[in-house]
Amino acid sequence: MTDGGAERTDLKGMTLPELEEFLSRWGKERYRARQLFRWIYQKHAGDFASMTDLSKELRGILAASCRISGFPAERVEISADGTEKYLFRLEDGEAVESVLIPDEGRRTLCISSQVGCPLLCGFCATGESGFRRNMTSAEIVQQACFAAKRLAEREERLSNVVFMGMGEPLLNVPEVSRAIGILLSQFGFGISGKRVTVSTAGIVPEMLPLALRYPVSIAVSINAAREDLRSNLMPVNRKYPLKEVVAAMRRIPLQSGRKVTAEYVLLAGVNDSAEDALALSRLFRGARIKVNLISYNPHEASPHRAPEAEAVNRFRNILVAGGVQTITRERRGADIRAACGQLRIAPRGNKS
Ligand code: SF4
Repeated sequence: MTDGGAERTDLKGMTLPELEEFLSRWGKERYRARQLFRWIYQKHAGDFASMTDLSKELRGILAASCRISGFPAERVEISADGTEKYLFRLEDGEAVESVLIPDEGRRTLCISSQVGCPLLCGFCATGESGFRRNMTSAEIVQQACFAAKRLAEREERLSNVVFMGMGEPLLNVPEVSRAIGILLSQFGFGISGKRVTVSTAGIVPEMLPLALRYPVSIAVSINAAREDLRSNLMPVNRKYPLKEVVAAMRRIPLQSGRKVTAEYVLLAGVNDSAEDALALSRLFRGARIKVNLISYNPHEASPHRAPEAEAVNRFRNILVAGGVQTITRERRGADIRAACGQLRIAPRGNKS
């Protein structure tokens, strides 16, 4: 920002308790924070002048010392299937992407939590681009603010948020936690916990604490039923082995009828055999885990291929026969490189 705004305290990204504490320094009541929250996250206000139910005095104080950060999408691409991909330029010139997936009654936004990703999974375009930095809670929620405002203009509502864009959310727990608090708050986005999904590559020590703190859905990238294969595909397996990851998944407390999701990207000739499916069904036997099977989306220079439809069906049937609930996910937004594992870091831009 060139308007000197960077020195002002950014109210976007603060949780409701943080905002209450912040306003109490000026002797302001707690409900003022709730009003501000509504203006920022429900009415999409970008300045204080429009906040007509705040006193003139408070609006003056806020305008003098605070700001509400925000950035529009630098680029919007719309897929033939209605999926929308947004490229956001952050204030320091870095860029991240988010994907909005319309599906019957749902409007699901897949958001990023880091610029790039340090985990270098072998099938992921984000990992190939390397890691730049963690995103702030303001930057994380701004992706939802942009999508929610865009949806409101066509009288639609953001219904689901998944942390499945760029980055590993459990390597950025403080900022991701703040963002989850804002998404779940009835004065913020008011999205229920079961409609917010945090997807992790299996950062074992952070999984249970997050699940205990927030009633969100947890998804874990599994991608292999053998330690050696998983270590090849996901180097993080050397630090947090599959056995520990599955044990952590089994410990996650769940409300009745809910399950932890295991994401499994099928790579032709690598992890899509009948033996792999059998091993996976044994691994999850008796656990409240459902499997989300995703056909690999190849990208240029990718060493892997998409599986044959026959292999996907065989894999699915073996899991189902083993008593494992299995969903085969439709590929969305592949024509605009918005499908799973296709988000990449864009080149750095100049600050506007
Ligand atoms: S799949 Fe997820 S955890 Fe792995 S490199 Fe890509 S963004 Fe990171």
